[in-house]
Amino acid sequence: MSAASANHGFSVRGELRLEESMARHTSWRVGGNAAVFFTPADQDDLVEFILQLDSSMDILWLGLGSNLLVRDGGFSGAVIDTRKALQMLEVNESGFLCAGAGVAAAKLARFAVANGFQNAEFLAGIPGTVGGALAMNAGAWGGETWRYVRSVETLNRQGEIQIRTAKDFQIGYRSVTGPEKWFLGAEFEFEKAAAGFNGLLEIKSMLAQRAAAQPVQTANAGSVFRNPEGDYAARLIESCDLKGVVHGGAQIAEKHTNFIINNGDACAADIEFLIDFARQQVLKTTGVTLETEVRIVGSKS
Ligand SMILES: Cc1cc2nc3c(=O)[nH]c(=O)nc-3n(C[C@H](O)[C@H](O)[C@H](O)COP(=O)(O)OP(=O)(O)OC[C@H]3O[C@@H](n4cnc5c(N)ncnc54)[C@H](O)[C@@H]3O)c2cc1C
Repeated sequence: MSAASANHGFSVRGELRLEESMARHTSWRVGGNAAVFFTPADQDDLVEFILQLDSSMDILWLGLGSNLLVRDGGFSGAVIDTRKALQMLEVNESGFLCAGAGVAAAKLARFAVANGFQNAEFLAGIPGTVGGALAMNAGAWGGETWRYVRSVETLNRQGEIQIRTAKDFQIGYRSVTGPEKWFLGAEFEFEKAAAGFNGLLEIKSMLAQRAAAQPVQTANAGSVFRNPEGDYAARLIESCDLKGVVHGGAQIAEKHTNFIINNGDACAADIEFLIDFARQQVLKTTGVTLETEVRIVGSKS
């Protein structure tokens, strides 16, 4: 069998699957099938795939799926799994830290510490990839991904790779807009660690505080809603007496009311029901409209 026929007509070296369950690739452990699911062998293979894909097909980039709700009807386009191909991690000749989009954010944090940098520690608690952190401007403990970005490598639908500086993008709280939206990797400018700074201790303390405050042992996607200006989504949801509310297999977490957990047999519709319910109750009771931080994709049935 030729490589192309093994890969359903695509001439690529990576692994291409049809009708792949997204429940296997998201931290909520729910979601219907992706029509096409591609794990490129390397960056060139990824570009080859983009060029061969029918231009009418939507593309969804996937990191660790820790901020993603794929609806039960699935995603009719192509999912690009970045975790294998985009794994470069190094300190470059200019002394800046470079990471591919598929590198786990936690790995980047520890690599930064090991190479004498400071301020990347916050990334250790974010269970996603560098690509996801770039797309979301992920942040914690006052740190935000884009504060440390010097440049990014991007890809567009025509298969063109560009190097862009951070100034080419408009950055906000969990929001990033710019000339391209697909990230292959980034160059970061973290500070040199101060004398006596113990980055691993910082990471340990941040992770312990997370474990105390968040239901980290459950299937969830972190904070469901963005915090509105000057307030906390969790406080607003709790003020509406929604702590612990269950719908099907999903539940508003007791430990942190901005988290929705999958108790084992939830479907995406159960989770989305609770998202809509919490939003409606908060609006009715407090007048505040909550916006989702999690990305919701796909069709309902
Ligand atoms: C327990 C828990 C705690 C969390 N805590 C935090 C926190 O403290 N702070 C925080 O900000 N987030 C937090 N999150 C949410 C999540 O981890 C972050 O948003 C993370 O950055 C998502 O990365 P990912 O690789 O999992 O992205 P995915 O969930 O795979 O994707 C998220 C979005 O990014 C896009 N994307 C992914 N890779 C790329 C790429 N290479 N190019 C372009 N777009 C891409 C996807 O298409 C999607 O729209 C938490 C989640 C969990 C489960």
